[in-house]
Amino acid sequence: MMTQEQMERMTQAVLHIREKMAEAAIRAGRKPEEILLCAACKTRTVEEVRFSAGLPIDLFGENHVQELVEKTDAGAYLGKPGHFIGHLQTNKVNKVVGRAALIHSVDSLRLLEKIDSAAQKLNIIQEILVEVNIGAEQSKSGVRPEELWPLLEAAQEKANIRVRGLMAIPPADAEERETEGYFENMNILLNQARERQGHSGKMDILSMGMSQDFAAAIAHGATIVRIGTAIYGPRDYGTKK
Ligand SMILES: *Cc1c(COP(=O)(O)O)cnc(C)c1O
Repeated sequence: MMTQEQMERMTQAVLHIREKMAEAAIRAGRKPEEILLCAACKTRTVEEVRFSAGLPIDLFGENHVQELVEKTDAGAYLGKPGHFIGHLQTNKVNKVVGRAALIHSVDSLRLLEKIDSAAQKLNIIQEILVEVNIGAEQSKSGVRPEELWPLLEAAQEKANIRVRGLMAIPPADAEERETEGYFENMNILLNQARERQGHSGKMDILSMGMSQDFAAAIAHGATIVRIGTAIYGPRDYGTKK
């Protein structure tokens, strides 16, 4: 059970983040309402998530299929959208398509094809983002910037997929200035992608920025920031898993 104190702390944390988000938007000459707050709620309980859903959070982001299923079945988001932001294995696509309003982490042709056929079976259009490995890290998911165009072209051929934009997680150990450079490059890539796509699509989402760097991400065009720790406190992976 959450204590009164925990509820108060979470409320203040979300209000503080929204204030910082609005400040960053205005500083960049943008409208605060253009930027959505995604609560990255991996490892958080249904109770914590349900409480947070009553706060000014726009949507929820899950990393694990199991948690997405559990929290959507429990109605923990109180009707707000749930997105999938973690690495998605092809054998779990069926559980995510139709359940996640947006899949942020598409980074291969194989995954694209699986999502398309799952969406086709449900007779829906699944909205996705393509994840870019903007720091060109060895062990990271996401496509290299030069692999982006072929994947976007393939996606355009898929009847049951709509690409809404791009997502990135810059290297965790980068310096602040370096991180800003990555965000700026993502903004450039989104604009290029939009130009290539012409009027046929609606590439308008840039998902980037976390607890430590969301203000910088907003300065460089983020439209969704994904925040975990600053809302819910440090994650306790414990000994359960
Ligand atoms: C955990 C996670 C976040 C949030 O990270 P914090 O540093 O806790 O804010 C954002 N995006 C993704 C993809 C994550 O896995």
